[in-house]
Amino acid sequence: MKRVVLQNKKAWIEECPDPVAEGAWVVVKVHASPICGSDKNAYFSSDAVRTAGHEGTGVVVETAGSSLLKKGSRVILNPLSGCGTCDLCRTGNYIYCLSKPPFETHFAEYVRVQDFVCSPLPDDISFELGSLAGCALSPALNAIKRMRLGGFDTVLVTGLGPVGMGALTICALLGARVIAVDSIAFRKEMAAELGAEIVLDAKDPDLGGKIREAMNGLPLTKAIDTSGSGEAERTCIDAVGPGGTVAFIGENRGEIPVSPSRDFIRKGLTLLGAWHYNLNDAGDMLAILRRSPTVGRLITNVFRLEEAQAAFDTFVSGDACKVVFRP
Ligand SMILES: [Zn+2]
Ligand SMILES: [Zn+2]
Repeated sequence: MKRVVLQNKKAWIEECPDPVAEGAWVVVKVHASPICGSDKNAYFSSDAVRTAGHEGTGVVVETAGSSLLKKGSRVILNPLSGCGTCDLCRTGNYIYCLSKPPFETHFAEYVRVQDFVCSPLPDDISFELGSLAGCALSPALNAIKRMRLGGFDTVLVTGLGPVGMGALTICALLGARVIAVDSIAFRKEMAAELGAEIVLDAKDPDLGGKIREAMNGLPLTKAIDTSGSGEAERTCIDAVGPGGTVAFIGENRGEIPVSPSRDFIRKGLTLLGAWHYNLNDAGDMLAILRRSPTVGRLITNVFRLEEAQAAFDTFVSGDACKVVFRP
């Protein structure tokens, strides 16, 4: 079969053996596989990477010993893996499993995955749309549920890449008012089209003042950072009022200053981080895919595997949201 290899801003196809089902590992014919922001690391890597791509949708073609899936099942390939037996895996929070087995690239014609990380993809949802259940919507769904975000809230969303646009999509579906922040023109325009009431520039020296102005004297209660920029994260912490909640879903592997006294004790903030949704919320994910009038617009580009170079060039240009392979 064909799979994509990434190295030094190059993306190409190579032939490799077809995967084989074994035990609870099934083989899925990949029908849609989106590029994730984290795949940029592989694209810019000086070593060849053959394991990028970790989300998508497809059809089960081989099952071995699986009792959960059968041949012909349409599935959402939820990201990454888990041991399948620990409490985290058994309660749907497999993403936090501490003994994840290695997983294989989803930028390929076929992929071998564990049956329990697949969730059913009903016939009325297309493969491409279903693939948004991965990194486009999943971190935001996790954050939004844990923040108890509802239609009466105003929420600040910093960072309008695919994850931020996913957060905006769910907030808009719930009826919440969104103040969106980024510095790239394409993203700011798209955010306004997807329902952000106010779109601000991340580089505005008076960003905090503009956010206060947008709140017209009322305290902001919720903020979500998807940019992973320390500056934006601190903007979120400062922008929410006393008792507010901030969710971090953009990866920042560095550190930011947080004051236990000023931010937590005297302001009563709740700060949380969200990675991927609990698998028991798969029904809510399907509701988003079915009911959001704008969710399909998150996909701006579709490429065949053979067009991997163009796909990655498009993705890193910034003038794209979700870029999806259709192997
Ligand atoms: Zn991802
Ligand atoms: Zn586990």
